[in-house]
This record gives sequence, C-alpha cells and structure tokens, in this order.
Amino acid sequence: MSPRRRPLVAANWKMHLMRGEAELLARAVASAVTADGPEVVLFPSFPLLPAIASVLTGSPVELGGQDLHAEAAGAHTGDVSGEQLVDAGCAWVLVGHSERRRDHAETDSVVADKAVAAFRAGLRPILCFGETAAERAQGGTEAVLLRQVEALLVALADRRAEEFALAYEPVWAIGTGDTARPDQVQEAHALVRRRLQQALGEAVAAPVRVLYGGSVKPENAAELAAEPDVDGFLVGGASLDAEKFLAIMARSASLGGSAPRRRHP
Ligand code: PEP
Repeated sequence: MSPRRRPLVAANWKMHLMRGEAELLARAVASAVTADGPEVVLFPSFPLLPAIASVLTGSPVELGGQDLHAEAAGAHTGDVSGEQLVDAGCAWVLVGHSERRRDHAETDSVVADKAVAAFRAGLRPILCFGETAAERAQGGTEAVLLRQVEALLVALADRRAEEFALAYEPVWAIGTGDTARPDQVQEAHALVRRRLQQALGEAVAAPVRVLYGGSVKPENAAELAAEPDVDGFLVGGASLDAEKFLAIMARSASLGGSAPRRRHP
C-alpha cells in the first residue's frame, strides 16, 4: 500500500508568456487553489519572477526558477544562482530538465552539482530524468533512468523527502502530444523509488513525490494519477492554458491515498 503523499502539480512555462499574460494566468491559478487540493508551483522564466511573486503574495501557490547555476555568485554571464532565486521569492527550482540537458549539454554530473547548489540555497529542487526515444527503442530505459538517478544520490544523502521531488519525463513525450502509457510511467516510478529505498532508506524514499511529465493534459491526467507511484505532474504546454491547467489540478486532487489506485498484476 502506498503511503499518503500530497500531490504536487508544477507548471513549467518555459520561454513563453509576456508579463501581462503571465500575471493573468498566475491569478487564475491562485484563485483556484484549495487547501485540500494539490500543492501547486509555477515556474516562469527569470524576467517574470518579480511580477509573478507579487501576484502570488498571500497565496499558497509557490514560485520556482527553471534552472540555476551551481555557484552562489560569480562571473557567469546569463546565469542565475539559487541564492538569487530565493531573493526573487522562489521556493523551488527545476534541475536537469531534458531541454537543459539537450540545449546546454548538461551532464549527469552538472545536474548533480546543481542539485547540491539548490539545497545550499534553501531551494527545493524538482529533479528531472528520462530516456530518449532511441534509448527506449534499444531497451535501455531502465539503465538510463538508474544512471541519471544514481548521479543524484550524493546530493540527496541526508535530505528529507519534503525537501525535493523527482520528475520522470521521457524525452519522447515532452511537447510531442505522445504521452507515456500509465503502465510505463508506473514501472519507471516504481523502479526509481526502489533505488531510493535502497540508497536512502524506506523512511526517506516512501514519502518522496515522483511526478510525471510529458504531454499531460486534462484528458490523460486522471488515468495517470490512478497509478500508485504517480504523485503529481510537471506540465509544460497545457500549463499555459488556465482552463487546462486547472482541470489537471482538479484531476490530481484525489492522488495520495483516498482514491482507488490502479493495481498491475
Ligand atoms: C515539460 O517541459 O516539463 C513538459 C512535460 O512539457 P509538455 O507538458 O509540453 O510535454
């Protein structure tokens, strides 16, 4: 039986939205959030952070940065530190998103350093991992996921479950409309949770939230949410549309124990 975990739903706005649109969207999310619903975090691009922090003042909706540099300060033009994100009102940060790995050649070791930096700054990282279509086609999914998670274990030692979350994001499902099947998602989440249990112990691993990301939309959120190790979503495209994102939040609300969870033989 899976322990009770409060669902977490995160909106990755990527490099989208101008300030006015972003403020409207943030207001819509803030007005829909409820105490018995999922925890909700918005990840706007860096220039939007002050405006969205101001919209979210007094709201339980939290704010996050889409990336951070491993150092606290220094000569790194174009980069942002975790400490600066905290100063801008962030509580969370995305680490290791596949678009960062692809566009900025971020290796597992760079991602691990960023995870350490997030904790140093007092941020809660959402640590992203996932295989490409080619890796899955070659039967390498399990090895790739374990390798990516293995690299994070040093950063996670001595951390409590509420200080971070993981996000399984198969690269082939991101922004493609091609969602992973619920059984594929459950298999990946359970694999990673087992590895966390071995490395960090049951008490830490059991309450860790493992999110799914990859073309999540209102139409597929409920069936994914029915899987026992799916603890919420990291949503890209659909998070830019208030109606869709609110529907995903609503379909995630029953995660965490009260709703019947699917069982696979
Ligand atoms: C993402 O970027 O994290 C993501 C899951 O995007 P999308 O929902 O558009 O696939």
